[in-house]
Amino acid sequence: MSDKYEDEVTLEEDREEQEDHKHEPEKFCTLCRRSERQAGRMIDLPNNIHICSDCMQKSFDTMNTQMSNGNFNYSDLLNMPGVSMIDLGSFQNQMNQPKKAPKKKKEAKPVLDLKKIPAPHKIKATLDEYVIGQEHAKKVMSVAVYNHYKRVATDTMDEIDIEKSNMLMIGPTGSGKTYLVKTLAKLLDVPLAIADATSLTEAGYIGDDIESVVSKLLAAADNDVEKAEHGIIFIDEIDKIAKKKNTNQRDVSGEAVQQGMLKLLEGSDVEVPVGANSKNAMVPLTTVNTRNILFICGGAFPDLESIIKERLNKQASIGFYADLKDKYDDDPHLLEKVTVDDIRNFGMIPEFIGRLPIIFTLEGLSEDMLVKILKEPKNAILKQYQKLLALDEVKLEFDEGALHAIAAKAMEKKTGARALRAILEEYMLDIMYEIPKDDSIGQVVITREYIEGNGGPMILLRGQEVPLLETAQ
Ligand code: ADP
Repeated sequence: MSDKYEDEVTLEEDREEQEDHKHEPEKFCTLCRRSERQAGRMIDLPNNIHICSDCMQKSFDTMNTQMSNGNFNYSDLLNMPGVSMIDLGSFQNQMNQPKKAPKKKKEAKPVLDLKKIPAPHKIKATLDEYVIGQEHAKKVMSVAVYNHYKRVATDTMDEIDIEKSNMLMIGPTGSGKTYLVKTLAKLLDVPLAIADATSLTEAGYIGDDIESVVSKLLAAADNDVEKAEHGIIFIDEIDKIAKKKNTNQRDVSGEAVQQGMLKLLEGSDVEVPVGANSKNAMVPLTTVNTRNILFICGGAFPDLESIIKERLNKQASIGFYADLKDKYDDDPHLLEKVTVDDIRNFGMIPEFIGRLPIIFTLEGLSEDMLVKILKEPKNAILKQYQKLLALDEVKLEFDEGALHAIAAKAMEKKTGARALRAILEEYMLDIMYEIPKDDSIGQVVITREYIEGNGGPMILLRGQEVPLLETAQ
């Protein structure tokens, strides 16, 4: 009877003790960041540092083994999983700094006002000023972006949840994928993070973990969480994280990265460090929700064409519709016929493709398009050189032949429009060097002969300038 009474008293004390603890803030291990509830009792150190017994043990074990082997190396400690060392210097600094205010509660007013989002045709018209060709891509993107931000602004439409407009763009190198996204972000005035899928690995392996893309966006938004939550993340070279074929090893940079990205693409809370790109003991963390972040993935997907061709050939060889086997060999629009199945055959997992509902392709650039890229966009390379020389009061012009010769050289490099600047710079170097020497020069005309190495540019003295019939405007 008395035993039972004692039991009840102890239980009562336990409960009181728990009640008391409820009011204390929960402690987190400074090294592995687990809470006291997950990691057990903490060892308290001065200045509010808590270490869980696992981390303490791990540190001692490593030091003991290395000391007994006579090769204690401080830097090895840093390589222990889940362990990062505290730099006491920066720690002291942080302690002296005022505590960062906790994340602001969401205001009722949406950041993006629905009325301010330009209509798709206006978005496309602005893109037209910068991006040459790629009509289909520009149209698809304008509509997708418009819908995305409409969804963000209204949150939900009654009971109907509008699906996220994440995109997958497929197009050869230098066809303007990154450029399109950059232009779009500038136009919408939203933060943009550009990440390379090749550097991503599953958490815990060498490389950036997947959540680092969100830290990049936070940095692009000047650490403003609310701004970041409406930003755009562009992940380039997405084809490089295709499932590796015929491998028995764990695919930490391929399929595992795709798996890891699923939650981000769909929308989840991610803990990211503020003001740094890796989680570290002393960097404060904040939570970013990716629900309204627009993800755009891009890649060149080499060999995708052969997968499409194989499928089309297979379809074409059946029954009455049997067709010529080489029908699709030189089809320039083959990539446009891509289906979700083709992308899956390439090595992207179905769950991943499912979270990128908007799939579109960009065309390879032709010589004529390259010529237009040289002279037409608002910030065209030619216009930049013309402006530079105009500051010296020299008129710079290119005859049409020169532009085609430059474009032809760029085509040979097979890196799309990327090669243009390098080629042009090579020819402009001498001109930019020589012209300012001589005050009497009033006009320089770059000719096809100069580009092809059979002659020089046409130099005209002041007062003798001639208007060219076909020059870049
Ligand atoms: P990628 O498709 O490999 O991402 P980029 O977008 O980086 O190619 O293109 C490289 C550069 O080429 C851009 O910075 C841009 O100046 C130019 N460029 C590419 N495509 C176009 C285009 N369609 N219109 C105008 N400029 C373009």
